[in-house]
Order: sequence, then C-alpha cells, then structure tokens
Amino acid sequence: MIKFNSVTKKYEDFIAVDNLNLEIKSGELCVFLGPSGCGKSTTLRLLNRLLDLDSGNITIDDVNIGDIDPVTLRRGIGYVIQSVGLLPHYTVKENISIVPKLLKWDAIKIAERVDTLLDLVGLSPEIYKNKYPRELSGGEAQRVGVARALAADPPILLMDEPFGAVDPLTRDVLQREFLRIQKKLKKTVIFVTHDIEEAVKLGNKIAVLKDGKLIQYDTPDRIITKPGNSFIEEFIGKDGSLKLLLYYYVEKIMKNRIPQEDWVYNSESQTLLYNGFNFCLNNHCVYKDSSLKDTLAVMLKIEQRVLPVIDSDKKVIGEVYLEDIERVFGNANE
Ligand code: ADP
Ligand code: MG
Repeated sequence: MIKFNSVTKKYEDFIAVDNLNLEIKSGELCVFLGPSGCGKSTTLRLLNRLLDLDSGNITIDDVNIGDIDPVTLRRGIGYVIQSVGLLPHYTVKENISIVPKLLKWDAIKIAERVDTLLDLVGLSPEIYKNKYPRELSGGEAQRVGVARALAADPPILLMDEPFGAVDPLTRDVLQREFLRIQKKLKKTVIFVTHDIEEAVKLGNKIAVLKDGKLIQYDTPDRIITKPGNSFIEEFIGKDGSLKLLLYYYVEKIMKNRIPQEDWVYNSESQTLLYNGFNFCLNNHCVYKDSSLKDTLAVMLKIEQRVLPVIDSDKKVIGEVYLEDIERVFGNANE
C-alpha cells in the first residue's frame, strides 16, 4: 500500500502539490487525471525520490520512503515516461538489461528475462532484441520502455503519460495490452494521464487533481456519474454516461467462470448454445475488450440479459450480465 500523508511540494513559492492525502492499495491501478500543470508528474517524482517533498510523508507498506536509500527505493519502482528514454547506442536487449546488470544477475538469467519480457509486451525476441531504438516505431519503443521498467520485477510501476505521444490507434492497442499485462502481473500502478478516456479504460481508481490538490478520488464509474464538482463535470465533458459506455470494457465487469460443459459450439452453423440460447458467433458474442455500448446493443437486439464473452479462438471465457452494466450506471441514480 502506498500512502501520501499531507504531502506538499513547492518550487520556490509555487505550490505544485498541495497537502495531498491519498492511499493506493497493492495491486490497484490508480490513474492520476488532470490538466497539464496540475502536479501529476511532480507527485510521481516525489514517490521515487527524484524530488524531495517539503512537508508530509509518503509510505510504502508503512515504511517512510525518506528512510529508504533512493537507489534501493527506485529498484522496486519501475518508471515509464512519455519520451521513453531508451539509450540510443544500446540495443533493445541492452536497454532492458540495465537494472538486472546493476543487480549483478548472471548473463543467462538476464537473457532469459529479456526474452520473457519482450514476449510479454508483444514483441518477438528474435526480431527485436538486437535492434537499436532508432529502428523502432513509437509504439514499439513504448513497449520496450514498459519491458525495461518491469525488468527487475518491481512491485510498483509509475507510468507518466506513457502512451501520450503515439497515434490514437497504436495507443488503443498499447492500452489493451497493458491491461492484459497488468491483469497477469498485478503491480501497484500509478498511471498519469490528462485523457479521461484513457483514465476510464485503465483505472480501478481515478484521482482527479487540480492546482496540486486532490479534488476527487473514486472509481471511474463514480467519477463520471457523480462528478464531485463543476470542474470535474467540465473536464469530463458532455455525455459522461455515454463516455462510460464507450470506454468501459467488458473485462472490468465480466464473470470468469464458465465450465466447458455449459456451452456447445456448433461449427456448421457457427453458433454457440449457451444458457438456452443459440448465439451467433459473429454477431451475438462479445470480447473482453468490447465496449459496454456494443455489449448493450447486442443484449437489446437479441433480448438476452446475459452474453457469453469469447476469446479470439471463439472459446467462451466468461459471461457479462445486464445487471452489472446497470450497476455501473446505477451509481448515477442512487
Ligand atoms: P503535470 O505533470 O500535471 O503537467 P507538473 O507536476 O509537471 O504538472 O508541474 C506542476 C506545476 O509545477 C506546473 O505549474 C509546472 O510549471 C511547475 N513546475 C514543474 N517543475 C518545476 C520546476 N522544476 N521548477 C519550477 N516549477 C516547476
Ligand atoms: Mg507531467
């Protein structure tokens, strides 16, 4: 658990972080959301001690980070930034190996770790490990940046607008892949963005910051359906609930518990017999990264309150209920 206790940071007389109190549970993906200049990056740098705070304290699992040697502290905290910061004269493999080498891992263990991480971020080790940063696209470089941050398996990951500089399509792919990785690794993540869409897609919790102050800390659905004040309302923009439908993935509310015998696939008709209904594989099933909007549209069309969630091999991996979609929105009408 990460705790910010009345943390204040000043640059001369300017208060960049103003009496911040915040708790982030282990394994949670917390998004810092707010406009440029609101203190997001400063707050991250206080946590890995690239900056020193002026008052208050930050604890990780009840240990004051001021009592931890900064180098040791940073080994337990992966850091991904927008400009990636890959060393141009190092290959992909060498870039990822930096921290493991500092930790004096042996060469075989490092080589294995590099291959595992490249696989994890969706880059073939054979093709990529000996490339130089200039031979990578923006999206590939960001993936290498994520792999490098994960190299020594730190429990905490700080990501400062990591996908801000890539085109929207690549960003969407990177976001989905990052969610997949996070589901597997369950790091404690602080992810900085000024993009409400990205915040809703990724966050278990969103901390909205303005002028160095925390103004709301809640789940994405509550931030959108119950914005704490007019600033957040304005920041979210019109049609907040519609945004929630568009950007909220099925994965966040699906139930993962489908025994094999509960569904029957008919390859001839391309249908799936499930829960007493014949679902057309192409039109009536959803994926874990389908939006709630698409899911709801299917439910209404075929008048079913529950849909199978399938993977790319058309296997059923879970189910999604209308009640759970309603619950996401229910917060608005409580
Ligand atoms: P964000 O990441 O939310 O865009 P930052 O944390 O980078 O915001 O900056 C917060 C505020 O502090 C901004 O107004 C910025 O201009 C100011 N600031 C950041 N770094 C410095 C610095 N080294 N010296 C003076 N002011 C700074
Ligand atoms: Mg910033």
